[in-house]
Amino acid sequence: MTNEEIKTKGQTYLMNTFNRGAICMVEGQGSYLKDADGKQYLDFLAGIAVNALGHNHPKVTAAIAEQAAKLVHCSNFYWIEPQVQLAEKLITNSVLDKVFFGNSGAEANEGAIKLARKYGREVHGEGCYEIITADNSFHGRTLATLTATGQKQFHKDYDPFLEGFHYVPFNDFEALAAKVTEKTCAILLEPIQGEGGVYVGDQAYLQQVRALCDEKDILLIFDEVQTGMGRTGKLFAYEGYGVEPDVMTLAKALGNGVPIGALLAKDAVASHFKPGDHGSTFGGNPLVCAAAFATIQAIEDENILTNVNEMGNYFKEKLVAFKEKYDFILDVRGKGLLLGMELAMKGTDIVAKCLEKGVIINCTHDTVLRFLPPLNVTSAEIDKAVAVMDEVFQTIEA
Ligand code: PMP
Repeated sequence: MTNEEIKTKGQTYLMNTFNRGAICMVEGQGSYLKDADGKQYLDFLAGIAVNALGHNHPKVTAAIAEQAAKLVHCSNFYWIEPQVQLAEKLITNSVLDKVFFGNSGAEANEGAIKLARKYGREVHGEGCYEIITADNSFHGRTLATLTATGQKQFHKDYDPFLEGFHYVPFNDFEALAAKVTEKTCAILLEPIQGEGGVYVGDQAYLQQVRALCDEKDILLIFDEVQTGMGRTGKLFAYEGYGVEPDVMTLAKALGNGVPIGALLAKDAVASHFKPGDHGSTFGGNPLVCAAAFATIQAIEDENILTNVNEMGNYFKEKLVAFKEKYDFILDVRGKGLLLGMELAMKGTDIVAKCLEKGVIINCTHDTVLRFLPPLNVTSAEIDKAVAVMDEVFQTIEA
């Protein structure tokens, strides 16, 4: 089918929930995508931080094919070899002790919210179930995670929401401390707010939050769905802050494209889940776990974190140079290869013009261009994207 034919069928049969461009991607290889009409694109969005190792990474593709030929699914009534192998890999590489697998970021956060409520009740008593999250945060589209999400434009028409959620300005410790009561069981934060416009958590803030949680025996939950799996230059963003969460959620890049989410927790927290307390039919199935294991193995074997740090600095320097050159660029921020550029106007026009010229970037929170290239991106690919952006920026300035 052509782009046009696919679009027409999509408009006929799909629920209209996404603002989609007029093209359809049919193939991916490394940092490149190809649409149904054969045009190539440099992908600096990577499936919104999903395709960490680019498209069709040979080791991940081989792991999927091998596992598909062996066993795709069985039930969690039995032990699953790829699931325990992946669990071991995640636990030995993090400060968390136990993991539960689901299918998405929202599902991982749902599990975190349930676990936090159970912990609060069992440790502090019946009234301890409230959760504090940040203004401008994003935690998912299911009802509990939407409730947790601090971007209120997503709430419209979906009330009534869950009880017991409070929202505080991000990076403002006093505002947060003022909201904590004996009813608070957890504080849920993204170390860097991705969807909210690439706002980086301050180290001092996150350290103060950690100390407060220790003092009051409140759980600190880090939503690392977007920041995890190397995106910020460490396997997990918390490592860069020297702040250990009690609970952490992962998804997106975890399986380099296959749907998998994970809820990790310290033993003292995880032990509050007993058989029958939580579940997921597909969660942790052999296929996605084999893909995720191969992804982490490749991140280790191919020195991906070093590349993220080097290419992150290289790319950020270019973006900072743009800020000097163009008045409409107000700020450049981010860590590793999670970078944002705040504009004086909406970014949709720039995104569309870059797409026309074969470079995929994204705009979030209306005015922030967001760059999420594959973690194995090369300097030549960055140069290419930067050259296209420069051409587009010139047309904007004119
Ligand atoms: N948390 C964060 C920080 C996210 O960025 C996202 C997705 N953008 C989610 C949760 C939800 O993940 P999913 O779409 O896989 O449910």
